[in-house]
Amino acid sequence: MIVVKSQRELDKMRRAGEVVAKIHHKLAQIIRPGITTRELDRIAEEIIRKEGAIPSFKGFPCAYGGIDFPGSICTSINNQVIHGIPGDTVLSEGDIISIDAGAILDGYHGDAARTYPVGKISDEAQKLITVTEEAFRRGMACAVEGNRIVDISTAIQEYVESQGYSVVRDFVGHGIGTQMHEEPQIPNYRTRERGPRILNGMTLAIEPMVNIGTWQVRILSDNWTVVTADGKLSAHHENTIAVTPDGPEILTRLY
Ligand code: MG
Repeated sequence: MIVVKSQRELDKMRRAGEVVAKIHHKLAQIIRPGITTRELDRIAEEIIRKEGAIPSFKGFPCAYGGIDFPGSICTSINNQVIHGIPGDTVLSEGDIISIDAGAILDGYHGDAARTYPVGKISDEAQKLITVTEEAFRRGMACAVEGNRIVDISTAIQEYVESQGYSVVRDFVGHGIGTQMHEEPQIPNYRTRERGPRILNGMTLAIEPMVNIGTWQVRILSDNWTVVTADGKLSAHHENTIAVTPDGPEILTRLY
């Protein structure tokens, strides 16, 4: 069932979204060579708690039989696609790191991911980040009443592939609200099913995961970290958005 949100609910989701945006605002300033992913996680959790929110990801059950997710954010470096676990890893000059953050405030979730450069990065890595951000924007532009979910998926896939990159198939975007993952699923590639019609009041987490090489991925033995099958770079860009009569609105932003 797809939950269409009321104005009151959208207001709550804007507030949850702002908590997530504050995390990214802070992490963007402190990501640099020498910092550990554990330190980034600590700072993110501090912001979430200070805002009176709860980390959505901490304690999330593992789909593959591993431990519950131990961090408040996912930290995925270079060839890691998503779900990297914060820990002792030290960031190095030239890395790229995807940070996915989620928070629950007053019963509603916000969810957003960005890929950040660590120091000076290669032109190739920078292009990957830029393409992934643009893929998100092109997908979001299709999130208008009357379209179908497949229109979002198609816009993302066509743009990414036009740039010579590939979209991950095994993980998809999603509806979001009182649950972090609600219907509908939002693949980043065109599927045979066209998906439901898009309605005003829907809240969606649109999140292209873009690989430089093959779209295929595998999961490390920690049962969480998803990496590219060919070891090449991957980037991730996600926002929680609302479908409104005035067009798509990003909820995971600073107000
Ligand atoms: Mg998400």
